[in-house]
Amino acid sequence: MGNTMSRLDSHTLFFGVFGDPIRQSKSPIMLNRAFEAVGMNAAYGAFHIKPGTLKDAIAGIRALQFRGVNVTVPHKVEVMDYLDHIDEAARTIGAVNTIVNDDGKLTGFNTDGIGYIRSLKEETGIELRGRKVLMIGAGGAARGVGYALAKEGTEHIYIANRTTEKAVELAASMSSFASVSGHSLDDIPALAAEAALIVNNTSVGMHPNVDDIPMDVSCIRPDTVASDLVYNPLVTRFLREARDQRGATVHSGLGMFIYQGAYAFEYWTGQPAPVTVMREAVLASFEAAAAKA
Ligand code: NAP
Repeated sequence: MGNTMSRLDSHTLFFGVFGDPIRQSKSPIMLNRAFEAVGMNAAYGAFHIKPGTLKDAIAGIRALQFRGVNVTVPHKVEVMDYLDHIDEAARTIGAVNTIVNDDGKLTGFNTDGIGYIRSLKEETGIELRGRKVLMIGAGGAARGVGYALAKEGTEHIYIANRTTEKAVELAASMSSFASVSGHSLDDIPALAAEAALIVNNTSVGMHPNVDDIPMDVSCIRPDTVASDLVYNPLVTRFLREARDQRGATVHSGLGMFIYQGAYAFEYWTGQPAPVTVMREAVLASFEAAAAKA
């Protein structure tokens, strides 16, 4: 098996991820493995794009003829100002995480929400049409996930957030395409009892704060799917308790991460992403980090 470096030459196609911070990103490991698996002469790097420099970085995509770029925190909203075209879903969500460069014309997409739904359905088999969903958190990730859940035909989406006004604002911004309401965290026990799916869209429970939990699991029904966007750790305290104490089906954020990258790969290359090797590459990277710790 070759490695990425040995394939680089004057025909190599370039890709990358723009973010701040960026050194924690698993995207280079995942996407370079994907290019290698399909035999593409391509390389994917991580670029630390500091505030105030995003416009120049986007101009660099055109000048250097990168084929595609992922955009992550904190640039997903600002980047929309510098693109030539924005896909309708990304425009509705209000954030872009994937850019495709067609001969200098830059188009922005959002693959977070569709990536989330694809992994949720594959891993849990949940039918969302006509069901109620509780989302905890109203930040950037919640926008894409909420949009994608609404497109699946959910009956109602409850959004509960620490800062209640943000939940109410997000609900208002989704009201043209979804039945949705904003709430405080105090409403969670009552709302959880009605929900077929509960999604943690907050960073609560993420490494290193692995003992934190976004809600008391005692109000979760056994027939509920508990889902977490956090993927480090792979099984958060929220998922562990929902599974072990309530018998709920659980869904980790790793699948969303893999599939948002898989959709980006498909937009850039026009071919199916090698999802199995992408997942293996990310898992191996986690295992290597755990062995070092
Ligand atoms: P964000 O825009 O910064 O939003 C953070 C959210 O978490 C807000 O709703 C915030 O509430 C809430 N929050 C933070 N600390 C909290 C606390 N101590 N108690 C209660 N609520 C708290 O972040 P984001 O981009 O949406 O990302 C959210 C999480 O999703 C992160 O863990 C990120 O790693 C994960 N994510 C995963 C994927 C994936 O592929 N699996 C993709 C995107 C994001 P306030 O509004 O009150 O501050």
